[in-house]
Amino acid sequence: MGILIFFVLHWYFSLFFQSFFHHRYAAHGMFTMSKTWEKVFYVCCFVTQGSSYISATAYGMMHRLHHAHTDTEHDPHSPHYSDNIALLLLKTRNSYNDIFKGEHDVKQKFKKDLPVWDAFDKVAHNWIARVVWGAIYLAIYCWLATAWWQFLFLPLTFAMGALQGLAVNWWAHRFGYESYKGADTSKNILPVDFLFWGEAYHNNHHKFPGRANNAIKWFEFDAGYQVMRLFDFMHIIKLKPNVSFAKI
Ligand SMILES: [Zn+2]
Ligand SMILES: [Zn+2]
Repeated sequence: MGILIFFVLHWYFSLFFQSFFHHRYAAHGMFTMSKTWEKVFYVCCFVTQGSSYISATAYGMMHRLHHAHTDTEHDPHSPHYSDNIALLLLKTRNSYNDIFKGEHDVKQKFKKDLPVWDAFDKVAHNWIARVVWGAIYLAIYCWLATAWWQFLFLPLTFAMGALQGLAVNWWAHRFGYESYKGADTSKNILPVDFLFWGEAYHNNHHKFPGRANNAIKWFEFDAGYQVMRLFDFMHIIKLKPNVSFAKI
């Protein structure tokens, strides 16, 4: 039971900060925040994402490329150009690493207004930090596990960020429902998103990439957006004025 609670909490917290900071803030600039709050959220990302921490700067560029080149060979992670999930994961990892190391010549227009904290990324984004996180996870498992098979979840814990990235990048371009047909292969993967903090509405998001609320139909619910509204109310962030509250 302890492992299950840990796994579920890890899933929700790490994915929340990935969605909130990497996706909605870095890549899409749906809201603004002070440099101090930016640093606070960098630390939150590191603590919750641990061994699978990635740079918001590099992710922001990669994700903008995904929107600009969806479903083409220039898409950094299109499931339609990889034969299976493992190859898609490898391709995504290679695209990300090339961008992170500056080996991918990303056009200037995809680099605008990204959060940058190189000194922090130097510490958080290296193999020593990942090994330390691995040791911490192992210690937590040793503490909480009540049966040997529960250790089978350990690799998933270690690769949590990749697992979540795959879930959205692969699943949401293959299976689900389309509220907006035609433009690309994006899908909404769950009618009521209780797993992905609103990221399940990927088809809505591709149609309106700057819209802070991914929920559009009456039954859709974007929990991440509700947290953003709370943060806006608390003056932690400032949602951009073009944010639409409308439902259709
Ligand atoms: Zn997509
Ligand atoms: Zn996006």
